Amino acid sequence: MTKGWRPGKRAAIIGAGPGGASAALAMLQQGYDVRLYERNADPKPLGGGVLLSVPVLAILRQYDIDITNFGSFTKTQFRNNRGKVRVRLPFNENVEKAMGIKGWHYGVLRSNAFGKMLNALPDGVLISDHKLDKYEEQNGEIQISFENGAKVTADILIGADGIRSVVSRQTFGDPGIFHVGLRAWLGWCDDPGGIEKELAIIHHSRNVQASYFPMLHDGKPGFEWWIVERSAEGSAVPVDVEGHIRHLLADFPSPMSRFPDHTDFETQLFRWEIYNRPTLKTWTKGRVACVGDAVHPVSPYAAYGMGMAIEDGYFLARSLGGRDLTDLAGVTEAFRRYEAERVDYVNHHVEFARELGKRFHHASAPMAWLRDFIFDHTGFLQRQVEKDYLASAEKMSLQLMELHRNPRATAVNQ
Ligand SMILES: Cc1cc2nc3c(=O)[nH]c(=O)nc-3n(C[C@H](O)[C@H](O)[C@H](O)COP(=O)(O)OP(=O)(O)OC[C@H]3O[C@@H](n4cnc5c(N)ncnc54)[C@H](O)[C@@H]3O)c2cc1C
Repeated sequence: MTKGWRPGKRAAIIGAGPGGASAALAMLQQGYDVRLYERNADPKPLGGGVLLSVPVLAILRQYDIDITNFGSFTKTQFRNNRGKVRVRLPFNENVEKAMGIKGWHYGVLRSNAFGKMLNALPDGVLISDHKLDKYEEQNGEIQISFENGAKVTADILIGADGIRSVVSRQTFGDPGIFHVGLRAWLGWCDDPGGIEKELAIIHHSRNVQASYFPMLHDGKPGFEWWIVERSAEGSAVPVDVEGHIRHLLADFPSPMSRFPDHTDFETQLFRWEIYNRPTLKTWTKGRVACVGDAVHPVSPYAAYGMGMAIEDGYFLARSLGGRDLTDLAGVTEAFRRYEAERVDYVNHHVEFARELGKRFHHASAPMAWLRDFIFDHTGFLQRQVEKDYLASAEKMSLQLMELHRNPRATAVNQ
């Protein structure tokens, strides 16, 4: 599996999700010998559509992935369940100019985006049917053992193995995973017609969210639609899922109730019980670094779980920058830089998303009334989303100069 690997260049990545695939592509671009180990025979993303933001698209473009007709351009709004607009997500013109990509959000079918990432990997990098058992760091190397009995020696180990990460657990201890009291139903369908194409709407009633965005799937227009509702860990799944969903959607304006008519409930609807973990301040130790859900699972309120995992992989490889991986001091310095660039930024987004989830679904009746009054009649939510969601992402985008397609505009505008 690792024949011809050069000491000092050996990077083993565990988990071929978006984070692992991104880390693999970025590490290859930095000149490393990479193997991406996946427990499943055929890695597949969960869920239907996903919103990806401009910096994430710019990273995929940097991996030589063609982002033409990749996703559906969309403007995102928050509304109440009577249709009143509470937030219009603005675009930053400097980011648009610098990246050469219009707007901020694009709707894509996950399997399309993820498939393109896997296709960009050279043959031999992805090794399926390899479930990590444990690792051991000794004599300046990492010995990695898989449940099928295979063993590999690498210079560094990257844990991209998702929310129940074996790497993260062995490195940082029990993650203390908890259910956040929410369940999401994610559906997608072909374009039912008659719906404005460039608009994503996140609606809230007193304690349910029902939303949609336009997306492209295999180049064809469609929509992702979803519902977030309260649920306790282990609570029963409704026997009549379709009836339950139609009942919830009846409380929301058109076109929400039209989507189920065009969705195959067997293959195009996913239930997502939402788990989280207490914030972790360190994502690296010795020769091990983690990316994505392995260190920061995120609720759907961020609309950024896949995006943050892709960004992590890119930032980690950028920090290593081709340096000799046998040099532990150099690796440690690079890992510190990765953490400095990512940990606070990501944790802020994860915590903000968790807080929004609580506020929208777990407020007492009087608090929910007050919340809705403030959100409907003041610019409070608009200001908060701009400050807590967009500002730092825009700043990061402007700092990623190597991804810019129009450096002159950036320099002028910074
Ligand atoms: C049903 C569902 C729907 C979701 N929908 C959305 C959404 O609409 N928008 C959004 O932003 N986020 C969504 N998320 C969250 C998003 O999927 C994650 O944030 C994102 O996938 C994280 O990527 P990752 O690469 O870190 O981890 P993952 O995508 O979890 O990938 C981890 C990979 O590691 C592999 N693996 C695990 N353990 C081992 C092991 N021991 N050895 C080898 N391989 C291993 C797994 O098989 C998997 O391929 C959803 C999650 C779920 C479960």
